[in-house]
Amino acid sequence: MTRRQCTGEYKIKPIKKKVRELLGYPYPNRIPKHVFVEQWVGISTDEFHRAKDADVKYMRNRHPLLDMSWSRADCVRYLTSLGLADTPKSSCLGCPFHGNAQWRQIRDTSPSEWTDVVEFDAAIRQGNARANVTGNKLLGEAFLHRSRVPLSQAPIDHVTSAERAALRISADEADVLENGLEDGCSPWACRGDADALTPDDFGLAT
Ligand code: SF4
Repeated sequence: MTRRQCTGEYKIKPIKKKVRELLGYPYPNRIPKHVFVEQWVGISTDEFHRAKDADVKYMRNRHPLLDMSWSRADCVRYLTSLGLADTPKSSCLGCPFHGNAQWRQIRDTSPSEWTDVVEFDAAIRQGNARANVTGNKLLGEAFLHRSRVPLSQAPIDHVTSAERAALRISADEADVLENGLEDGCSPWACRGDADALTPDDFGLAT
């Protein structure tokens, strides 16, 4: 796994930009201390350690599920009562943490999104265009699928025993390969390692 900028680039920066716009203080205007938005983030009790404050004063995070002491199971129960039992984990379409099951679901149910992720996978092969320009070239190639095979040819139909042996992985790790990470992803609770983000990820919009 290389350094990722997905949460910073695709979520936090656009959200901050929009919030500043809604508040009437687009960057680089200074926002008065008493002006802020309240932002609700859906962290359940099973993952309370992922609840974090926003890193700017003009946004205040609230966690209504924690306030209600709702667990993941409570959420599923509630969604089921509304006929929404199949609600998937929140994540980006081209997330490198997807398991094979999620890739198959995209391939088998949404051809246009599958085309999109296959193209995205091909586009990241040489790494981040801006990093390449600034001399921080990727050493090697980037792939969305853990097999390091282009997504259109990756073994997403099942984790083969040969693949398991080659990767020297346990049954639990094979489960992650098949089903992806259990956690979903939100801007202030990235399913990957949010701590890997650097101040540079947030620079433009702070
Ligand atoms: S779901 Fe989270 S970790 Fe995955 S690509 Fe999106 S922001 Fe990144």
